[in-house]
Amino acid sequence: MSKGITKRSEDYSAWYNELVKKADLAENSDVRGCMVIKPYGFAIWEKMQAEIDRMFKATGHSNAYFPLFIPKSYLSKEADHVEGFAKECAVVTHYRLKNAEDGSGVVVDPDAKLEEELIVRPTSETVIWSSYKKWIQSYRDLPILLNQWANVVRWEMRTRIFLRTSEFLWQEGHTAHATKEEAEAETIQMMNVYAEFAENFMAVPVIKGIKSESERFAGADETYCIEALMQDGKALQAGTSHFLGQNFAKAFDVKFLNKENKEELVWGTSWGVSTRLMGALIMAHSDDHGLVLPPKLAPIQVVIVPIYKGDEQFAAVSAKANEIKKALEAVGVSVKYDNRDTYKPGFKFADWEMKGVPVRLALGARDLENGTVEMARRDVVDPNNRNAGKKVVNFDEVVAEVQATLEDMQQGIYKKALDFRTEKTTKVDTYEEFKQVLDEKGGFVLAHWDGTADTEDKIKNETKATIRCIPLDDEAETGQCIYSGQPSARRVLFARAY
Ligand code: AMP
Repeated sequence: MSKGITKRSEDYSAWYNELVKKADLAENSDVRGCMVIKPYGFAIWEKMQAEIDRMFKATGHSNAYFPLFIPKSYLSKEADHVEGFAKECAVVTHYRLKNAEDGSGVVVDPDAKLEEELIVRPTSETVIWSSYKKWIQSYRDLPILLNQWANVVRWEMRTRIFLRTSEFLWQEGHTAHATKEEAEAETIQMMNVYAEFAENFMAVPVIKGIKSESERFAGADETYCIEALMQDGKALQAGTSHFLGQNFAKAFDVKFLNKENKEELVWGTSWGVSTRLMGALIMAHSDDHGLVLPPKLAPIQVVIVPIYKGDEQFAAVSAKANEIKKALEAVGVSVKYDNRDTYKPGFKFADWEMKGVPVRLALGARDLENGTVEMARRDVVDPNNRNAGKKVVNFDEVVAEVQATLEDMQQGIYKKALDFRTEKTTKVDTYEEFKQVLDEKGGFVLAHWDGTADTEDKIKNETKATIRCIPLDDEAETGQCIYSGQPSARRVLFARAY
């Protein structure tokens, strides 16, 4: 483990893959596009889940669970939906294996063919709306505000661990409403919940916006999203919230009697974030020494490393270390005392640096005499300055210092990411400039677009840049499309993306 990883500036993609492995987050499985999430990686995901789940409940949602398998006929009911997902569906056709006649192992039993093929859910709108049909009769049954935590399968051709996998973990919210206004408000509310989570917990600044028609979710009338910028200047769609209109209500015949006793179609939304957020978290903050985690999502916030010679010193250092650990835990800080005697302190330092533990306390025999401990913060590691980010702290100030440092780090890495994004966001007015910025600087490019799918497609084919979103927070500013010269009502956000 002590060997380092490839530098970001040398090969960003290799850096990412090595980091995921060396920080013990996850590994690829033998099935292409699937991953094994290891305990340390899963602990981070669980912290994310817990917070997102809390935010959903605070906005009135409940969790439920729907089946993994979707009858093929369900998926076909909404025309745009099936067209969008057909190309990446895993299909179950049989339910039994049998021994091969030539003794070569097991084969699919041709007699065990399913009458109706089943699709492994790529998303659950169809199976959920088939339940909503049974659950909704009158306006009194609305709204329904549900979420499920689940795995889904989309047979992706180009995969990258966490960012785009064939099987991924996610939450999918599915709501049903009596009015269009209420469903639209829900869609926007959940985009805002995602943005708040990304910024306040992941310390990742995001741009909120609306997807262009060609990037819209299959079966939605409008897709809202949050877009983040990674350190290599590429964008990542971090979350989506869809206004489904009455499309799924029509497909599944979900109607309700309104207060005037008239039948109406139900309005819907769906929204999701996935284990892709793990990729965003890793890519947004980490450095050439390994992971950098925002303290709010770090499974271990403080590690204490003892420095000692012999059993006697070890016992004395351990007593104090455990005392500090207890004091920190009493104020809600999670602490690991790394008392492994099979590794040297230098190895442990590098190990916890790789794993992104925000604060390290080193405690030796001399520190016991002085009544101090050496504190080092993970967001300031400088190979040319061994003392960068280090500080000597008195025992009676450790708790307050650690708390203040964790808070400062949470703010600090957010600000660093925001400054980076600001620096990497460029307004351009010509196509030449557009291409130049993409090639030389990367990042987000704000440019005028004529609003047509044709222009969007041509720009994508020629430059690999896509419209990430039509930002919601910018003021409208009229201009001319950089490609066609046609009038444009506002700038949109372009980038090369994951
Ligand atoms: P969608 O249902 O397509 O709007 O996607 C919902 C969420 O899942 C979005 O936040 C996407 O970023 C994420 N997502 C979509 N496809 C994948 C994938 N193959 N791997 C990981 N996350 C994904």
